[in-house]
Amino acid sequence: MNIVSCTFCKKPFASLGGRICPACMEQIDKDFITVRDYIYEHKHSNIDRIAKETEVSKQIIMHLLKEGRLIIDSPDGDGLLLCEMCKAPINTGRLCKNCIGKVASSMDKNVDAHKKPEIKEPEPNLKGSAKIGN
Ligand SMILES: [Zn+2]
Ligand SMILES: [Zn+2]
Repeated sequence: MNIVSCTFCKKPFASLGGRICPACMEQIDKDFITVRDYIYEHKHSNIDRIAKETEVSKQIIMHLLKEGRLIIDSPDGDGLLLCEMCKAPINTGRLCKNCIGKVASSMDKNVDAHKKPEIKEPEPNLKGSAKIGN
């Protein structure tokens, strides 16, 4: 177990591998419900308006987008999220489809590489997620 400082509140906590403390995790889960419900009611909203109306910080909304829990429903993701490898606009997660494919095939080739990139593809079952936009 390591002591790390939380990405959100900057407080040190004993981590099992994550960068978010239990208190912030709980807050993010609550905020996720708030934002998801807001998006169901206001399908044509954007991230600034969502942050203002729900009082959820943009940082948390971005975090939910990167985790694939929220999806921006427009082809270029309104330019809010960029692929971390090629900087192409994406609407959820961290990498575009191309780069996810590249990473997957390079991981096959380097099976004993010590550092694996932290890539988490969005869950195929999107029951709990919501879309921003139209
Ligand atoms: Zn925290
Ligand atoms: Zn890419």
